[in-house]
Amino acid sequence: MLKRLIFGVAFCGLMYSQPPAASPAKPDSEAVKVLIEKAKKAGGPMWAGEQHFFCEAPRANSPNDPPIEPTKIFDNVYVIGNQGTVAYVVNTSDGLLMIDSLSADETETQLLPGFQKLGLDPAKVKVIVVGHGHADHFGGTAYFQEHYGSKIYIAAADWDLMEHPPAGRGGKGPPVLPKHDQMIVEGQPIVLGDFKIMPVAVPGHTPGSMGFIFPVKDNGKTYTAAMYAGTVLTPGIVSDEGLQTYSKSVAHFKEETKKARVEVELQNHPLMDPIQPKLDKLQARKKGEPNPFVLGQGNYQKFLDVMSACTEVNIARRKGV
Ligand SMILES: [Zn+2]
Repeated sequence: MLKRLIFGVAFCGLMYSQPPAASPAKPDSEAVKVLIEKAKKAGGPMWAGEQHFFCEAPRANSPNDPPIEPTKIFDNVYVIGNQGTVAYVVNTSDGLLMIDSLSADETETQLLPGFQKLGLDPAKVKVIVVGHGHADHFGGTAYFQEHYGSKIYIAAADWDLMEHPPAGRGGKGPPVLPKHDQMIVEGQPIVLGDFKIMPVAVPGHTPGSMGFIFPVKDNGKTYTAAMYAGTVLTPGIVSDEGLQTYSKSVAHFKEETKKARVEVELQNHPLMDPIQPKLDKLQARKKGEPNPFVLGQGNYQKFLDVMSACTEVNIARRKGV
């Protein structure tokens, strides 16, 4: 019971920042309803589920989110985890690179069994890139650092967050902390063999939250993918300042992903755009059919437009507009 309690505190929706400010029972004002309509229009039918999640029905990831089948989703990319939180493994010419690493207590139940099912050797993980300093993303890093010498990359501000959690939050500390290692810095690519990730700073959820832009291959063809790895799932716990910063970060990520012509949308918390239906589609995919993770440049931008519009909704609710 105690373990479960500590584990829960470390989860993304619950650890960082302020207690909820708004009462969920309060009906939306006309001004907020107008902003919700704007978000619906921004996303269109493709992103109606995402709009509903971010604007109207947010929820945190949970230790009870059902596991997914570990799956190869691109020629060079594998996904492991559960319907609330996933890690990606990228095969490069010089070993494996992992993006995020689930929670520490999922190392033996989900992460390592995933490697085994996919026929991947965890000892070949040379680099782990962590999207932000919460324990449901860096939890597995200490194991890989200790057993396989994997290099761990996290933004400086989130190394600090992990090593000095805010008072009253995660007071007993995260379950397992990796030894201080490499820094992620916007604009400085992280390279392993023939593979390169471009980090983009997107503070808001945490001070060192990052977004990533990187190439994926589908049947030999290269596409550019992006992952916004500091998504605010439950705005109620983020400070006013945090939400404003987040809004600017989404705009910044929009610029960078537009420039990079991103057309593949990947998530570390695939709650607002469920991953299971995509994995089902992949499994049933026939030759010549598109990869369900490849959405096209316009649709990727619309995905970010909905994040942005719903952040405005949440800011307006907070202000009592
Ligand atoms: Zn988080």
